[in-house]
Amino acid sequence: MILKMALSIAIALLFCSSCGSYPGGSREGGWGRGRDAPLLYDKFGFPVGGIYPLVTESGFVVEGFDPDLAPLVGFSSCSNRNAGRVTLYLHREALQYFELMQKEARKAGAQISICSAYRDYHDQKRIKRRYPGKAIDPGYSEHHLGTTVDLVNVHWNNREYRWLTGNAHRFGYILTYYRRPELGVGEPNHWRYVGREAAQTFYNLFGREY
Ligand SMILES: [Zn+2]
Repeated sequence: MILKMALSIAIALLFCSSCGSYPGGSREGGWGRGRDAPLLYDKFGFPVGGIYPLVTESGFVVEGFDPDLAPLVGFSSCSNRNAGRVTLYLHREALQYFELMQKEARKAGAQISICSAYRDYHDQKRIKRRYPGKAIDPGYSEHHLGTTVDLVNVHWNNREYRWLTGNAHRFGYILTYYRRPELGVGEPNHWRYVGREAAQTFYNLFGREY
């Protein structure tokens, strides 16, 4: 777990084009300085080089973080996690790749759709007020990055989950909270876009079920 977290941060730093130095715990040093700028483009014209940091206790998103978002159409709904939003937003690049991934998944008989995506600092404050014991503090949700999605109908070892663990990395997505039955943790429906290079690196190192 610690190795994976460390690696994730290392990868984020390697590929992050605009996040500057690792924050190391001070609120002044959090992620979110300016817009991310892709370094390279692949043959389809998509930017490559994952750019997004892992949000942890020492890597957080500052209030006012302004990712490059695009509106989602045709999303589903899941519980109260959207904090009353009627339109969902996702990082433009993450959305492009999600749509490609969704199309491929459908061909294989796996139906994946988004039910929660970007949440800003104030959304998280509202959620925290509603679920004080359960919800994470504002600034520490991966959903602040705009690159993270919750999916409907993805459960441990169902068709959708199996398809994602074998293929999502090709579209730059990884599972953040992998299964740790001994700790009773894991979140099969929470996927994060990190760019294809970083996702491939994760896949090579940890395989399908990291
Ligand atoms: Zn989530």
